[in-house]
Order: sequence, then C-alpha cells, then structure tokens
Amino acid sequence: MSSLPLSETAPVVGDVFGRPLKSLRLSVTDRCNLRCKYCMPEEDYTWLPRETILSFEELATLTDLFTELGVDKVRLTGGEPLLRKDLPIFVRMLTRNRRIKDIALTTNGVLMADQAEALHYAGLHRVTVSLDTLRPDRFRALTRRDMHRQVLEGIDAVVRAGFQNLKLDTVAIKGFNDDELADLIEYGKHVSAEVRFIEYMDVGGATEWSMDKVLSRAEILDRLSRRYGPVEPVIEESSAPAQRFTLPDGTTFGIIASTTSPFCATCDRSRLTADGLWYLCLYAKDGIDLRAPLRAGVSRDDLIALIRAGWRQRKDRGAEERKALERFGLREARLIEIERLREDPHLEMHARGG
Ligand code: SAM
Ligand code: SF4
Ligand code: SF4
Repeated sequence: MSSLPLSETAPVVGDVFGRPLKSLRLSVTDRCNLRCKYCMPEEDYTWLPRETILSFEELATLTDLFTELGVDKVRLTGGEPLLRKDLPIFVRMLTRNRRIKDIALTTNGVLMADQAEALHYAGLHRVTVSLDTLRPDRFRALTRRDMHRQVLEGIDAVVRAGFQNLKLDTVAIKGFNDDELADLIEYGKHVSAEVRFIEYMDVGGATEWSMDKVLSRAEILDRLSRRYGPVEPVIEESSAPAQRFTLPDGTTFGIIASTTSPFCATCDRSRLTADGLWYLCLYAKDGIDLRAPLRAGVSRDDLIALIRAGWRQRKDRGAEERKALERFGLREARLIEIERLREDPHLEMHARGG
C-alpha cells in the first residue's frame, strides 16, 4: 500500500456544479448469490474476466488516491461483496488510511452469519442489509433463491457482533411488498435497525421496471401515516440520499426517492468497479479506466491528476435527466437495451454497485 499523507484531511475537489468528491463505492465483485428480479433478472451473465479484477492492494492504492482529493467515506458493495474472499483483510487495509472516516458495507446478508464478527473485528464501521420482504415465499420469488432464513440469521449476527447504526434497505415495489411497509418497520424495531425504503429505479439490469411498479415517497408516507399517525420529517443537514422521518412513537425511517425526487444536485458519490473502471454516476454509460494506468506503473501524482481532472469535468445528473424524460412521455423507454447490457457488463447495477 502506498505511503500515507501526514494530514488527516484533504482539500476537496469540486465538479462542474461544485459537488465535492466525498463518497466512494467500491464494488469488490460483480458476482452474486441471489438473482433479484430488479437487478439481475437473467440467470447467467457475462462476468468481468478474473485477471482484470483488482487485488486488495490495488483497490487500497486507488482508494488512497481518492482520499487525497476529498473522499472520506467508502462503501463496499457489489455484486455481493461477501462473496469476495477474505473481505475482512481488505477492511483492515482501509482502516489504516486515517482520512477515511466511514467504512460501510451493503450486503444481501446471505453470508453475514459467518462473517459479521470478523468484519467488526477488522474495523468495519457500518452495515446495511438489503431486505425486501419478511415472507420466505416472496423472497424466493424475488431472488430465485431459497435463502431468506440465512438473511435473517445474518441480520442477527450483525447485531450480535456489536455493529451500531444497522440499516435495512427495502426496494418498495407495488404489487410485491407494498403491504409490508409497517411489518418491516416493526421488524426493524425488533433488531434495532433503521429501515430505508428505496423507490424502484430503472437502472442497469432493471429490465422489468415500469413506472406503475414504483411506490413513490408520497405513497409510502401516506401508507405509514394511515397506520401510525402523523409522520414528521427529521430536520438535518446531510448529503445522504435518504430523507429521514419520525413516527409518533419516535421510530425513525428513511426514504430514498431516487425516482420521483432525484438528489443529483448534492450527489458526491462515484463508483469503482471491481476491475478498476471509475463511474461518475449510477447512470453513466462510460467509466474512466484506472486499472490500465495503475498496472502500467503510472506515478501516484499522475493518477491523482487523472482522477482530479475526471471529477472536475463531471456534469452527470443521471436520475434527474431520466425523470425529465417523463415530460416527453419517454419514461417507459428502456434505459439500456438488453443486448447492450450483454455486450458490456459494466452497465449492470451488479457490476458498478448500487
Ligand atoms: N448485493 C448487495 C445487496 O443487495 O445489498 C449489494 C449490491 S446491490 C446492487 C445494492 C442495492 O441496490 C441493494 O439494496 C438493492 O436492493 C439495490 N437495487 C438493486 N437494483 C435496484 C433497482 N432497480 N431499484 C432500486 N434499488 C435497487
Ligand atoms: Fe440482489 Fe444485490 Fe445481488 Fe443485485 S447484487 S441481485 S440487489 S443481492
Ligand atoms: Fe448521483 Fe448520478 Fe445518482 Fe444523480 S443519478 S444521484 S448524479 S449517481
């Protein structure tokens, strides 16, 4: 791993709209042990070639460079990040960089029961488990795998390992789990987790997406206030995608309204794929190749200059542009044709990380 700078804070680089480079999502693998219909509707995919996958040392070196330009939050994702062998070793490597204030993980939870303790011990700060339903039959229908029990055991293991601030992320889909919102909140209370409802997005592999399956923030709030009484917004300064709310009994939950109310204006997130392509937006069609220069031995300063220049010219507002299509009645147009997805696996949500 490269030598660390002395200062714990770095000057932050801004993009064309002044949005800072702060949050980096590292997709550590494009593989997954589930096949959620909204993300990986096919059974088989064109996987990133093994020899192109960055080693932990390479990932940590690139992450170091990003932290010299302002990144202080790192989220490990995928694909399913727990499929990447020895992930705790990588977490430990990241903890050595004092500029990283927050190391988080998004997982489907299936393998968490075996790994929670090691990840906590390695220094992982926070865990988000995706949980769309409490019903095993629905889980099987959505993910095409019979692993609901493992997910719930994984959540228990996260709590036992001592993680604070556990979050449960639920993609809210009309006609699938829209009758489970309150049940999920109650389950969240039971395991001391905050539930966040995500509006269904038409991104990457969401080839079955249609606007009439999107349960909007307004509809989510309406359903929850009918069940619990008045729901109040939490007033806080945050660049986090979730807007938080409080129920009358003090329980908080979040809504990520990426589809009906995109938050591109404050977006400080970018994504590095497991093979070292850097995407400036979830919807970006092209990424900046950092693997080739890294493996060619390009100097640290030149790599930093490449990242700085990339961010400075960033104009992406993918979800806002996607929403603007509604005005022209084009919303139903498939974002990326399936043939293109097959040709370039980087376009998939599971390759660039959610
Ligand atoms: N496999 C891990 C998991 O499921 O948590 C991490 C990667 S997954 C791509 C990250 C997040 O993206 C998950 O919470 C998943 O529910 C969400 N996601 C995937 N496809 C989505 C879609 N079409 N709309 C909204 N969220 C989506
Ligand atoms: Fe589901 Fe996550 Fe796997 Fe996508 S990457 S299929 S959301 S578990
Ligand atoms: Fe950020 Fe792109 Fe998502 Fe907008 S669509 S919030 S710019 S990643």
